[in-house]
Amino acid sequence: MLQYAARYRTGWALILCATLLSTAFTLLQPWPVKVLVDNVLGDSPRSSALASITSILPGAETQQGLLVWVVVAGLGVFVASSALEVVLTTAWVKVGQRVVYDLAQDLFANVQRRSLIFHSNNSVGDSLSRITGDSWSVHTVIDTLLFAPAHALITSAGVLAVMWRLDPSLTLLSVAVVPFMAGSSLLLGKPIRLAARARREVESHIYSHVQQTLAGIPVVQLFAQEGREHARFREYTGAAIKAQRRSALVQNLNGLASGLIATMGTAGVLWVGANHVIQGTLSIGSILVFLSYLGVLQAQLKAFTGIYSALQGAGASVDRVMEILEVEEEVKDKPAAYPLPPSRGHVRFSNVSFAYDPTQPDRLALRGVTLDVSPGQTVAIVGPTGAGKSTLVGMIPRFFDPSTGGVLIDGHDLREVQLRSLREQVSLVLQEPFLFPLSIAENIAYGCPQASIEQIERAAKAANAHTFIEQLPEGYNTVIGERGATLSGGEKQRISIARALLKDAPILILDEPTSALDAQTEGELMQAVERLMKGRTTFIIAHRLSTIRNADTIIVLREGKVVQTGSHQHLLMSGGIYSRMYSLQQEQRPGIRQRAVAVET
Ligand code: ADP
Ligand code: MG
Repeated sequence: MLQYAARYRTGWALILCATLLSTAFTLLQPWPVKVLVDNVLGDSPRSSALASITSILPGAETQQGLLVWVVVAGLGVFVASSALEVVLTTAWVKVGQRVVYDLAQDLFANVQRRSLIFHSNNSVGDSLSRITGDSWSVHTVIDTLLFAPAHALITSAGVLAVMWRLDPSLTLLSVAVVPFMAGSSLLLGKPIRLAARARREVESHIYSHVQQTLAGIPVVQLFAQEGREHARFREYTGAAIKAQRRSALVQNLNGLASGLIATMGTAGVLWVGANHVIQGTLSIGSILVFLSYLGVLQAQLKAFTGIYSALQGAGASVDRVMEILEVEEEVKDKPAAYPLPPSRGHVRFSNVSFAYDPTQPDRLALRGVTLDVSPGQTVAIVGPTGAGKSTLVGMIPRFFDPSTGGVLIDGHDLREVQLRSLREQVSLVLQEPFLFPLSIAENIAYGCPQASIEQIERAAKAANAHTFIEQLPEGYNTVIGERGATLSGGEKQRISIARALLKDAPILILDEPTSALDAQTEGELMQAVERLMKGRTTFIIAHRLSTIRNADTIIVLREGKVVQTGSHQHLLMSGGIYSRMYSLQQEQRPGIRQRAVAVET
């Protein structure tokens, strides 16, 4: 994490200088009072250092003159140290904030590049709280690891040197409390770390809960479960408060223990110091300086021992940040990766097996799939839900890498080529189209932001979307509400087809593009889909077998295995699972439709 600090060396140097200067002023602060007590109010002889200073100040020889200078000095020290405080605060905001945002940027970039498996296992809320919340730990780390120790060390050294000259035995007594303060803080460090970690985790539950409830709000409202979600929210906030209370309590205990030790130290110093004054070995002004330095020293000691507990607290966040920063991306370019040349669209699966969970290699989503698809061919993949159809096509844009075997495009193994060059050549239309809360034109041009409005309109026309877009209040500039709430499913799907058309990639994947739509909309959409398929190698997954009759090859997948391959006619004639599925759908079609209508109404 210190790498992030290293980028702003000059800023840190400025902060360090200002900190040292402000330390110097802290050390100066009690001296005007000492002069006031010993030389203005009392009649101790002026020390040689004081005498040499007063000799250059006009009018300082008299008591009255000296009093004026004491007041001026006190004011001067105050103004100067306040000004320094301002410089320090702004510098910290500028440099410290930058470091936090630098880290947050890297976290965001890393989370974006993580595989789809990662994202299906991690909630958005958790990633959100790591990026926006835990990134603050870098600020704490720099402050407590770099500055607090340096500041505490230098200040303590200066204070101790002066104290030693004033009264060595009293100084030794003040230092005697150090081991006790350090011990108490070490002892309470672990509970502080645990409490902080628990707190961060509960807080991330709150984020996830809000995010998930809002994402599924139609279901929540339909089943009238707002009360339960509210109760769960309250449960989480209750847990958060409990965790916060515990964390605060542990920290207070730590403060109490070190404060108690420090107060006992002060009492001892007062006792011995007062006796020294009575014996005449120490002036009253000096004991004032001594007591004020003792306060500074103890504050520094507290800061020093607090470093450990602050680091313990930040440690929880650092862990959560490092979990993201340190994990290798599951899918990434090899160092020797080369760009995939413009593809002709020849796709080969060579004995591909795949397990989602590498720790459970027996639970295979794909088992030894071998396929050879010539350029421009259309391959339809059918099979029951969970057969591995989406997993199979997900291998082509390299959302996942095969556990064994390989996927090749034009003879290039996908693991050897640059990810970007590969994904540029693959278009994907999913069952649930995702539209961003941007204008329709920007949504269509999401993959090619430089596209002209003519190109966008041409794609929309080919996708049968132009007519309804024209009728929207602001045409192509209409901004889509979150999750496309203002468009119907068929309209959203046509926009996503236009998006795929504009991308104009040689390989096209359609994962149940019409399954969420009624039969009539499906018919209209299939026209657009067929236009999109023209001249591309296409993989289409469909449940309604009537939509894929014209495919060059049909693959029947079951439990991750290819069980049948061939054209529609060939598969019908050879009997088996495909012909059974087909005749079932032919027979049931009207019945299914009637029932579907009944359910919808
Ligand atoms: P289909 O698209 O044919 O319905 P999938 O390819 O989505 O099937 O899923 C194949 C199998 O892999 C299923 O058993 C499913 O439970 C499993 N699976 C899918 N996605 C994941 C995932 N992200 N993590 C773990 N298992 C998954
Ligand atoms: Mg699927």
